[in-house]
Amino acid sequence: MASSESKVPLIINGKRTDGRDMEDLRNLRIEVGVIPEADGSAFIEWGGNKIVCGVYGPRECIPRHGASPYHALIKCRYMMSPFASLEEHSRSGPSRRSTELSKVIREAFENLILADKFPNTQIDVYIDVLQADGGTRTASVAVAAVALANAGIPMKDMVSAVAVGKAGGMLALDLNKIEDNFGQSDMPLAMSHRDRKLLLVQMDGLLTRDEVMRILDMAERGCDKVHEVQAEALKRFYEKGEGETVKW
Ligand code: ADP
Repeated sequence: MASSESKVPLIINGKRTDGRDMEDLRNLRIEVGVIPEADGSAFIEWGGNKIVCGVYGPRECIPRHGASPYHALIKCRYMMSPFASLEEHSRSGPSRRSTELSKVIREAFENLILADKFPNTQIDVYIDVLQADGGTRTASVAVAAVALANAGIPMKDMVSAVAVGKAGGMLALDLNKIEDNFGQSDMPLAMSHRDRKLLLVQMDGLLTRDEVMRILDMAERGCDKVHEVQAEALKRFYEKGEGETVKW
């Protein structure tokens, strides 16, 4: 996140660097059932982000002594592949960032999954970022929600997510990587669809109270658009013929 004095022009002739208006989402596509061996899976292509998610469980808890007799453990592993972005610090294996993102994504789902229906088990959510272009944590929440639904894991509500922020001095929906890196503020956010509960909110940079209120409305409208794509992807999967191959 750069300071407000950032020299990188993020708004040119009223448009963003990728030609979008301030409240446009990047192109968004979700495919369900992309990993036949998983209990549930989905792939998301959102702008330049490409992320795949596999869900396994509820299954026996390993190690067994870690199991809870009251509820399933939700385990989440977010990982960015070393070729996901052109940044020189990209490397394989866990990092402080992947640990943080795994934690915040897991916490969002702990508030949604009806884990007490599956005591002594665990539900594994594996998220692999193949290509990164800003907003991977929100794209991960969106794709994992679909993969969990595909695995038949009962949830209180569906969750959608989007990053909002300020770029080139203007409030913007769905920041891309340049806006994330050189804008004034970045606020990833996840919201449940029916209850409108905030399940993840983080913030970088600086916003006024008034801007936060406006940005929340913008995020809510953005989450509704993401939800449409999630619901449509699930519907398409269950309407297609048995045995039909799912293309990423
Ligand atoms: P998010 O992906 O949720 O926006 P960050 O704000 O941490 O999370 O990162 C913004 C963007 O910067 C990422 O989407 C990615 O494009 C790039 N990036 C951040 N950290 C790394 C990393 N370790 N390796 C490669 N790219 C990274």
